[in-house]
Amino acid sequence: MLGYKASMSSERRREHHAFLRNKFPKLHDELHHARSWVDNGNFLDALTTRAPNQLEFCKISMEHAPTRLLDKLIETSTAPNVDLAPRALQTTRPSKPTCHLCGETLAESIADVIDFSLLKCSCGNKYAHTHCAEKHLSNQSQCVACKKSYMLNNIKHSTLRQTLLRF
Ligand SMILES: [Zn+2]
Ligand SMILES: [Zn+2]
Repeated sequence: MLGYKASMSSERRREHHAFLRNKFPKLHDELHHARSWVDNGNFLDALTTRAPNQLEFCKISMEHAPTRLLDKLIETSTAPNVDLAPRALQTTRPSKPTCHLCGETLAESIADVIDFSLLKCSCGNKYAHTHCAEKHLSNQSQCVACKKSYMLNNIKHSTLRQTLLRF
C-alpha cells in the first residue's frame, strides 16, 4: 500500500512518509491516514495473518480505517480466523516480597511478621534473609552498584511494612 510494507521499521516508515509527502504534497490528509494505518500494530498484524476476523476488527477499531482495502482483503483471504477466545482471567495476586540476594520468598506479604535483614546503601533499602545478608556481607561488604559499604540491620519479629515506614 503506497509503497509501505508491513516489515518496515518505524524509522523506515517515517522516512517513507516524508518521501510520499514530498512527492504528493496535495495528498496531505490521505498520507497522514496512511501513516496512521501503518503505525497501527493491529493493522500490521492483520496484513500479515490476513485473518478475516482480524481484518474486520481493524474496520471498527481504526481511525479512518481503509475500509475498501480491508473489504478487499477479507473477500480474497483464504486464511483462517484467529482465535480470539479471551484468556482465562487471572487474578493478579500481589507478588510476594523476595530476598534481594537469593531471590526466594522473604515473606508472604509485607504485613507478615518475620525476621529479616535490611541492607542500606546509596541505592536504597534492600531486604534479605538474615542468613543471606550475613553470608553476602562476609564476602562483599560494598554494594557493587554504588560502591558504598552496606549498613546492615538485622530485624527480628517485624514486618516489612513497618520497616518501609521507619527507614
Ligand atoms: Zn535470601
Ligand atoms: Zn548501592
